[in-house]
Amino acid sequence: MKKHNFYAGPSILPEFTKEKTAEAVINFAGTGLSVMEVSHRSKEFVAVMDEAMALVKELLHVPEGYSVLFLQGGASLQFLMVPYNLMGKKAAYLNTGAWSSKAIKEAKLFGEVVEVASSKDANFNYIPKGFDVPDDVDYLHITSNNTIFGTELLKEPEVNVPLVADMSSDIFSHPIDVAKYNLIYAGAQKNLGPSGATLVIVKDDALGKVERQIPTMLNYQTHINAGSMFNTPATLPVFASLQTLRWLKENGGVEAMEKVNIEKANILYSELDRNKLFVPTVANPEDRSRMNVTFVMAPDYAELEKDFLDFATSKGMVGIKGHRSVGGFRASIYNAMPVESVKALVEAMQDFEKNK
Ligand code: PMP
Repeated sequence: MKKHNFYAGPSILPEFTKEKTAEAVINFAGTGLSVMEVSHRSKEFVAVMDEAMALVKELLHVPEGYSVLFLQGGASLQFLMVPYNLMGKKAAYLNTGAWSSKAIKEAKLFGEVVEVASSKDANFNYIPKGFDVPDDVDYLHITSNNTIFGTELLKEPEVNVPLVADMSSDIFSHPIDVAKYNLIYAGAQKNLGPSGATLVIVKDDALGKVERQIPTMLNYQTHINAGSMFNTPATLPVFASLQTLRWLKENGGVEAMEKVNIEKANILYSELDRNKLFVPTVANPEDRSRMNVTFVMAPDYAELEKDFLDFATSKGMVGIKGHRSVGGFRASIYNAMPVESVKALVEAMQDFEKNK
């Protein structure tokens, strides 16, 4: 039976990425060696890193004056590298979920954190709006997509300070205006590749402004100077990420992804709004994530949760159990998720409803 992969991350990747990576695990770039067993300084791997960086710039229309890096340590290491490198005395954070809260916790080790708004009062089921950001902060940190709670900031907030964004779960899903950001980071394991690589896009001018000493390995400038090869990069994840970037380019880039992502999200949210058994956890359509669609059983049908999970599993759905802090269900529909899989989930919901 066909499996429909709705995992939140690590998550579905394009067939192209898997096939090309599988080939290179055996024979990389005609070397007769595995991509796992060649030097990161070989001309073959240096070409991989160079092309990956160039494609990130091309696909996201990254302006001059920014560097692209492939680091390690996940988005979680960025929670502290960002304030280490960019926060003088004060930075602003928008608290939209568990990941934002973790970023705030780390930032507090480096200076004053102004939490400009929070949706914690409603278990993070909306995106706060209309908040003020002090002028004297070095940046406003946002989490563009809240993987656990299913909310997304599809447009950058209009503010007078530079932005920093954790885009782990929605990077490459729609166009962004990179010029508004001092830094963007994303763990690879959603829209890019396997876990192990972290993409960072940083404005060169934003660096070198803080007074504190920064350990070499945690200093973005170290990695910029070394072309992401200061130490051994995660070669296999970077190779796989390059394949996804090629796939993205071949398929019309982030502009084309956005169209399909809107279509997929509409199909699923329309069903959730129609089907009497289910309720989407994010009420405001503006705040609904196009990547992670979270929903619960309607109050009258709460006892059917396990039955639906079993039914959906029997129809090939994988990974739809919601995060433990929200409960219910979460269907992650990243770039690589075909429309057919979303339709298959909708069909399962309709079949389940018919029998109730
Ligand atoms: N931020 C967001 C939005 C996430 O979804 C995650 C989970 N993948 C993280 C940060 C933490 O990422 P990592 O596991 O790569 O440290």
